[in-house]
Amino acid sequence: MTYAYDERLDGPLADHDKAAIVRDLQALLPDLQLLHAKEDLRPFECDGLSAYRITPMLVALPGTIDEVQTLLKYANAHGVPVVARGAGTGLSGGALPLEKGILLVMSRFNRILEVDAQACIARVQPGVRNLAISQAAAPHGLYYAPDPSSQIACSIGGNVAENAGGVHCLKYGLTVHNILRVEIVTIDGERLTLGSEALDAPGFDLLALITGSEGMLGVVVEVTVKLLTKPQSAKVLLASFDDIEKAGDAVAQIIAAGVIPGGLEMMDNLAIRAAEDFIHAGYPVDAEALLLCEVDGAESDVAEDCARVEALLRTAGATEIRLAANEAERQRFWAGRKNAFPAVGRISPDYYCMDGTIPRRELSRVLRGIADLSAQYGLRVANVFHAGDGNMHPLILFDANAPGEMDRAEAIGARILELCVEVGGSITGEHGVGREKINQMCAQFNSDELTFFHAVKAAFDPSGLLNPGKNVPTLHRCAEFGTMHVHHGALPHPELERF
Ligand SMILES: Cc1cc2nc3c(=O)[nH]c(=O)nc-3n(C[C@H](O)[C@H](O)[C@H](O)COP(=O)(O)OP(=O)(O)OC[C@H]3O[C@@H](n4cnc5c(N)ncnc54)[C@H](O)[C@@H]3O)c2cc1C
Repeated sequence: MTYAYDERLDGPLADHDKAAIVRDLQALLPDLQLLHAKEDLRPFECDGLSAYRITPMLVALPGTIDEVQTLLKYANAHGVPVVARGAGTGLSGGALPLEKGILLVMSRFNRILEVDAQACIARVQPGVRNLAISQAAAPHGLYYAPDPSSQIACSIGGNVAENAGGVHCLKYGLTVHNILRVEIVTIDGERLTLGSEALDAPGFDLLALITGSEGMLGVVVEVTVKLLTKPQSAKVLLASFDDIEKAGDAVAQIIAAGVIPGGLEMMDNLAIRAAEDFIHAGYPVDAEALLLCEVDGAESDVAEDCARVEALLRTAGATEIRLAANEAERQRFWAGRKNAFPAVGRISPDYYCMDGTIPRRELSRVLRGIADLSAQYGLRVANVFHAGDGNMHPLILFDANAPGEMDRAEAIGARILELCVEVGGSITGEHGVGREKINQMCAQFNSDELTFFHAVKAAFDPSGLLNPGKNVPTLHRCAEFGTMHVHHGALPHPELERF
């Protein structure tokens, strides 16, 4: 089973082809919002990874599922690739358009269809913002747990496609653990329902498969999410350290002691100073590292867990520990963390956000490795990350206008991800592979494993038209990248020669 993805799909397109496609779509779907003038396409040329830019051939903003079905059927019949886009906050170039493709922007699907407080679920359209779900559930004392730092802007459709995480995912799980049912439209225009409102559904778990599939298997048109009851109490402790490795060890010790915090986040000195200058969260600017540890639950459990965590932090060598005095201070502590990326954007012309996951016990070793690489490549790196999950977010600071800096930033980023794989981790925790990390997939998976990924893709999308060139590298790309063994010029799977 193969699918015919061709990297040449990215090539330029003759104008008359585009004109014909626009004419066809206008005739087929008179109410479809279509953008095709050059100046209208500009805002869509990148996602949050702004170093990669491609102007799409045209942008479609459907408003109904019928329009999505008809458009995909047309694309399939005419061999036109389609890239779905939510809010465009992705950090791995997943929604990077194709010069020869349609960008299918789902932002008009922005309605919350139902909040069922009794069943603790909400049924929402894919363009609904993550935070809007919790806001709609709040009057019922409920909320949606996965909270990416981009939650004010990112869409639930994008969260499903990336299996997004966030500060509270250590205790409450990633997107995949917090959704019950997803409706998708396949490239041939079929509407499929994956999962159900029951805790388990018979058959293969296609809901899990679609989660994190980066728009390559189908377009998400509806999502049913689980809602949780707001914890009775939540307290956050801020611990300062004079040594980043001690902070890393403290994380492992807290989890090993059996406490599962609602959130356990770490920032290094560069990130602390940037966030404090921006948000005035009350952070200790002289600390080498800080940990934010939130415990939530029933009042009595929270008080007990806070005392345990405080004792553990002291034993691990914290120089200062502060309990947020009230809700306003708790929110301020989190605001500093949640705004750390834009804060770092204020101290450097450009930054490049990496996203690797490692076993928690390796935190100190990897942080040391990142510091060494930073010195070796002559680029500053700020660390701000979901420490409890072992999900690192090194932010590489550079100036794209300085000769060679962009290349050095990409090179150190690749080395950091390889380091994550070396210690038993993975090249992504929550931001996805997209276009950015496609080469590192060759380091993470062998050719047999990649062949299985291609077979799954082919089962949904035999012509390889949905988001080609992302997430799963071709075997040829891996051969070129130098991580696949090519014997006498032949790839390990001759039937896949054409990838
Ligand atoms: C400041 C900042 C902080 C961030 N913090 C976090 C964080 O804490 N945790 C985290 O996980 N991520 C974080 N992100 C990354 C990003 O917000 C997430 O990946 C988010 O899930 C992307 O959602 P989106 O709607 O913007 O999707 P987009 O960027 O538009 O698309 C992302 C991917 O999803 C696909 N897609 C989008 N909509 C659909 C659909 N309806 N059907 C099928 N495929 C679709 C696209 O093709 C693409 O592959 C952060 C980003 C920024 C800029």
